[in-house]
Amino acid sequence: MTVYCPNCQSKARITSRNNLNDEKTVADLYCQCLNTKACGATFVTTLGFKHYINPPATSTVQLAANLLNTLTKAERAALLQGMPPG
Ligand SMILES: [Zn+2]
Repeated sequence: MTVYCPNCQSKARITSRNNLNDEKTVADLYCQCLNTKACGATFVTTLGFKHYINPPATSTVQLAANLLNTLTKAERAALLQGMPPG
């Protein structure tokens, strides 16, 4: 991951991270501008999880299992044979 300096837009180095929640989805990143001759600023930027593009595999399996549990035995058997139930 690349962080850019807010002052000179040069690349910056992450020197430390401070997680702000137990899930570690939001964190303050302490950074140092690598343009040391003309800038060299140090700053804090925030990293935050936004949303999934694909759900985690465990969620997909759990979702399928929950759906299967709502079916009757006959419906499950029909589904496994590739036939519509009924
Ligand atoms: Zn800079």
